[in-house]
Amino acid sequence: MSNLILEIDAVRASYGRGAGRVEALRGVSLSVARGEIFGLLGPNGAGKSTLLACLEGLHQPEAGVVRVAGLPPLQAKGRLGVQLQKAALLDDLTVAELIEVYAALYNVFPSRAQIDQLLARFGLAEQRGRRARRLSGGQQQRVALAVALAADPEIVLLDEPTSALDPQARRAVWDLIRALHDEGRTVLLTTHAMEEAEALCGRVAIIDQGRIMASGTPASIVAGLEVRPTLKALAELPLDQVQGLPGVHSARYTGQHLEVETGEPQATLPALQALAARLGRTIGEISLRQPNLEDAFLRLTGRALNA
Ligand code: ADP
Repeated sequence: MSNLILEIDAVRASYGRGAGRVEALRGVSLSVARGEIFGLLGPNGAGKSTLLACLEGLHQPEAGVVRVAGLPPLQAKGRLGVQLQKAALLDDLTVAELIEVYAALYNVFPSRAQIDQLLARFGLAEQRGRRARRLSGGQQQRVALAVALAADPEIVLLDEPTSALDPQARRAVWDLIRALHDEGRTVLLTTHAMEEAEALCGRVAIIDQGRIMASGTPASIVAGLEVRPTLKALAELPLDQVQGLPGVHSARYTGQHLEVETGEPQATLPALQALAARLGRTIGEISLRQPNLEDAFLRLTGRALNA
C-alpha cells in the first residue's frame, strides 16, 4: 500500500470557455502522505478550492492525474470527508439530521449514540435538535466540521476551516484538527492565514495564481528561500549609511520604522546603535523578527499574503 494517500500530478483546471475562460490550476503537482496535516496556503483566487474540488471528483481537470488512496476520486468517495462551507448547510435541518443526511450520502448510518458522541466532541450536544439557521456562526462552522466526520473518513478535506472565527473559536477548531491527526487521519486544509499553516501543518504548499510556488515544512520553505531576519527600529537614520553596516542585506522605511534585513543581527544591532550615537540620533523601540511563511510568500510572489 502506497504511503501517498493524495496524489496530484500536473493538473490543469479551468472554468468557462473562450474569452471568459479562467485558468484556475496551471500544472499543479503535489502529494500528501498518510497521516499528515498538509496545508494549502495562498490568497483568495489562488486555486485552493478548485484543487479540493478535483480531489472530491466535483471538478474534472483538463489534464493531469488525481488519485485518492490510489483511486480516481469518484471511486474513492467513501474515504473522503469534506467540510462544507457553512453556507451550504441545509438551513431547515437540525444538527443531528444534518449528520444523518451527510452520513447517508456515503451509505453510512450512525446510531443515535454515535451521533451524540460526534456532537459532544464538537461541543454541539446542546444544539442537537436546533435547526442550522438558528445557530451562531461559530456553531455552524463546527457543524460543518462534524459533517465532514459523519461517515468516519480516513481523509478529511477542510476548506478554510477557521475563516471568520474569533481567536478563541479558531483555537478550539485547531485543537479539533489536531485530534483528527492524532487519530491517524490525513488532513488537507486550505488557509490564507500564515499563522494557521505554521501552527497546524507538518507540510504546506504555497499556491498562487494556479501554481505551486514552494512546498515542504514551513521551516524548510523559509530556510530554502534564504529570507533573513529583520531588525525593526524606530529611528531616523540615513538609508545609505545603514545599508553599509555589517550584515545588512537591505534597508527601507515603513512609516516611521526602519526595517533592516540582515544576515547577522548580532553584528548589525551594535553597528546600528553606534551609527545612531555618531549622528546624535536616538533609537526608540527596536525588535528582531525571524522570517516566517509570510516573508516567504512575499519573496516568492512579490506580494503580501493578506494584502
Ligand atoms: P481559492 O480557493 O484559492 O480562493 P478558487 O479555486 O476558488 O481559489 O479560484 C481559482 C480561480 O478560479 C479564481 O480566479 C476564481 O475566480 C476562478 N473560479 C473559481 N470558481 C469559479 C467558477 N465556478 N466559475 C468561474 N471561475 C471560477
